[in-house]
Amino acid sequence: MREVILIKDGELALKGLNRSVFEGKMTATIKRRLKECGAFTVTRSQSTVYIEPQDESFDFDSALDRVGRIFGIAGYSRAGVFDKDMDVILSEAPAYLESALCDKKTFKVEAKRADKKFPFTSPQICEQLGGKLLETFSHLKVNVHSPDIVITVEIREKGAYIRGNQLKGAGGLPTGTSGKAAVLISGGIDSPVAAYLMAKRGISLFAIHFASPPYTSVRAEEKVKTLLSRVARYSGPIKLAVVPFTEIQEEIGRHCPEDYFTLIMRRMMMRISSAVAAENGCIGLITGESLGQVASQTLPAIAATDGVSTLPVLRPLIGMDKEEIVAISRKIDAFETSILPYEDCCTVFTPRHPHTKPKDGQCEAAEKNLDIAPLIERAIEGIEYSFIE
Ligand code: ATP
Ligand code: MG
Repeated sequence: MREVILIKDGELALKGLNRSVFEGKMTATIKRRLKECGAFTVTRSQSTVYIEPQDESFDFDSALDRVGRIFGIAGYSRAGVFDKDMDVILSEAPAYLESALCDKKTFKVEAKRADKKFPFTSPQICEQLGGKLLETFSHLKVNVHSPDIVITVEIREKGAYIRGNQLKGAGGLPTGTSGKAAVLISGGIDSPVAAYLMAKRGISLFAIHFASPPYTSVRAEEKVKTLLSRVARYSGPIKLAVVPFTEIQEEIGRHCPEDYFTLIMRRMMMRISSAVAAENGCIGLITGESLGQVASQTLPAIAATDGVSTLPVLRPLIGMDKEEIVAISRKIDAFETSILPYEDCCTVFTPRHPHTKPKDGQCEAAEKNLDIAPLIERAIEGIEYSFIE
């Protein structure tokens, strides 16, 4: 007996005329992500996508794991494909469903008959297969209102597809349907979560990390790459720009008042990020800022850094508590890496009393002795690019 993976679209169904664009992006993502699982075809009929393996060697477990991390998918399941013959269904389906049914107490059968030539109606299919399952598995009872498992039979063009409960998909919108944006990624808990959340809304990601060797180590940079690889399991490959930031931080230390260090440093990050992001085809920036979390994340401080960005800044965590952020960080398997104790350039140069309520013009005054343009130019020249998969 053959098996397939059935995928149900999520919000895609709402997208009207853009629908075919969304569907195309999702199909392309499925093909790319499942490439290493073996040969398969992808077809679509209404809001169901069918992944059909071409031979025995197809790695189902790995494929299901990957499908669970593709955005735009509401639910998915593994299904058996049987001949469109009631006798075959009744004799073969119980054995196929055994592993799904063995730990369940109640079930019901639902039938959909896309092929109207099939000689039994949906209620007849439910009744006959339901009866057969009750007869085969004496521990089972029928519960039509809230069963532990729903067995679905779909009679389609190519065969009868039979499956148990659907697994919940990653949700969101297919990667790339919302354009490209650059995440400012540190080694902390927040920015990988911010990247994941924006990728979930269909953004394809580019990443920018500021490193200050020798104050920050190679291991800190490796940590950032590991975090991005966790996000990339959902978003697809991410191009990373590592920007040398040491000279800028030292110059800020030499020429600016100490209580403005963090603000000015963040303004420099924004200026450089806007330029690098635009050059790499991005139309927005993403940060892991959450209102009030630290001194540089008060509303006046955010206004002061926002003011120098030439691109819109997306801050998906702005209204979230740390607890909520940590829950997502754990879910995407980033948390254990994020809490490893490596230094970040932000923590190396921290003022004793950071300014939290800069007024109009104060940041400009504090950075007046900084030779901004050439500093930015040299930092951009020193960027090293890599690809994270
Ligand atoms: P995170 O947990 O993401 O490090 P945080 O709570 O430590 O965030 P900050 O250090 O104030 O907050 O940084 C705020 C945001 O600025 C980060 O979420 C990230 O988007 C960006 N950022 C901070 N440090 C860096 C860095 N070294 N390189 C790139 N972006 C950074
Ligand atoms: Mg940080």
